Amino acid sequence: MYQPHTPRRHRWHPLAVVVALLLALVAPAAAQGTHTFASAIAADPTDELRARHLLIPVEGITAAQLRDTYSSARSGGRAHDAIDIHAPRGTPVRATADGTIRKLHSGERGGLSLYQMDDDGRTRFYYAHLDQYAEGVAEGRRVRRGDVIGYVGDTGNAQPGDYHLHFSIAILDHPSRWWEGTNLNPYDVLARAPSRLAHGGQ
Ligand SMILES: [Zn+2]
Repeated sequence: MYQPHTPRRHRWHPLAVVVALLLALVAPAAAQGTHTFASAIAADPTDELRARHLLIPVEGITAAQLRDTYSSARSGGRAHDAIDIHAPRGTPVRATADGTIRKLHSGERGGLSLYQMDDDGRTRFYYAHLDQYAEGVAEGRRVRRGDVIGYVGDTGNAQPGDYHLHFSIAILDHPSRWWEGTNLNPYDVLARAPSRLAHGGQ
């Protein structure tokens, strides 16, 4: 039986097509943008960092040699919120991950210190009591995991001769404010990390 052609009732209005296309393009990008940071926060950052096998930032130190001093009390009722990694003066300090040197600072507490942002844009590493910086270290400079960035010292409020690296890890509260963050325990992250620099990359 012959079926008469039924006219299409719902033609796409050209403007509707444009709007639909725009939505298709913009919506996933916007969703992904919020998704990335939100889901990164939702996941346990300690687990995420542990899975990345960050480098123990003092040359020659193994995971077994690390001590959990994260909760040790400090003067003025402050918590340590970091770990101290002891090594002889001048021992190379290496970048724990790929990233960018965000700030070089010399202060009463941390002495000669360095802030590094991780390439994930939300994790900040802090290295303090340095004897000196490595040659070429500068704010804004990119570093690769394992690059020497300084040397173990006793500057700042470290006891004279108590050579160690004070190392902390913070997750930024907001990606655009690098100086504000929440510390997590580096011991939990590093204690299972490979003790030697992995040759040949990640
Ligand atoms: Zn310390």
